[in-house]
Amino acid sequence: MTKFPEARLRRLREFPALRNILQETRLSASDLVYPLFVTHGRKKRIEINSMPGVLQFSLDNLEVEIAEIKELGIGAVLLFGLPESKDTVGSASYKKQGIVQEAIRHIKDISPELLVITDVCLCGYTDHGHCGLLRDDKVHNDSTLEVLQTIAVSHAEAGADIVAPSAMMDGQVFAIRSALDTYDFSGVAIMSYSAKYSSAFYGPFRDAADSAPKFGDRFGYQIDPSNVRQALQEVVFDIKESADIVMVKPALPYLDMIVRIRQSSNVPVAAYNVSGEYSMVKAAEGNGWIDYTRVVLEIITAIKRAGADIIISYHSKDVARSLSINC
Ligand SMILES: [Zn+2]
Repeated sequence: MTKFPEARLRRLREFPALRNILQETRLSASDLVYPLFVTHGRKKRIEINSMPGVLQFSLDNLEVEIAEIKELGIGAVLLFGLPESKDTVGSASYKKQGIVQEAIRHIKDISPELLVITDVCLCGYTDHGHCGLLRDDKVHNDSTLEVLQTIAVSHAEAGADIVAPSAMMDGQVFAIRSALDTYDFSGVAIMSYSAKYSSAFYGPFRDAADSAPKFGDRFGYQIDPSNVRQALQEVVFDIKESADIVMVKPALPYLDMIVRIRQSSNVPVAAYNVSGEYSMVKAAEGNGWIDYTRVVLEIITAIKRAGADIIISYHSKDVARSLSINC
């Protein structure tokens, strides 16, 4: 083995062309998914206080946003809906004319080639803000599965390419796969929020999607941040239940889980760089404390380097923009 002074690792870091050709992880706009919040009503473009730069759009204002996403080379959106009304069973989540169902049809009209992924959950649609149906003030697993099936089929009917169950109910992937196949949507894929941690980093999202639980918390169904093996079990179960893609959420504080899941399975791994991760960086940018673009590129590169094939991020447009400038 050669050693110093003949061997010098700095030799390969001397100048840009050398560094570029040796770059091990390369970001591309096609790695990215942009989350979109669609809201009822007209002429709405509402900025979310805790997430500067992220907006809720009414359908009539979606076209410009979709055009920008496409122009930047981002190939996929993840849809979240804000319905006009909520009830205890979240019935607005599976209506044919529901906000997400309408948004899917509208996006597919504007841009048929854009990949449309939909979040399948109840928390944005129930008046209590929990991810499932309640029995004795507890989220009831098996009755929730039936609603998740109905939501997923309604999204598929509207034209969704991928449905993404995020409720963390046991058996949700199997239930949704069976329902999709029964209704002749065997071509619609499932991206499961498999390793979804019970994280404080979701705070700003709950403003964006108006989905904070009105009582209690989500520790009863999401994974304790200190646990590794439980998340690996969730992934194994979801793959057995036919998940096409598995997800780790949040991303940056859970890079170790992205690595482990990448190494232990062969399905594509998605990572969700969540609202709190975004808002902290935006706040630091707003205070002039960091170089925003460099920090964001470093974060997203780290998520890809850990092994994520798909990166869902509120920074996606900024990342794609800076990649196009650097080309
Ligand atoms: Zn939920």
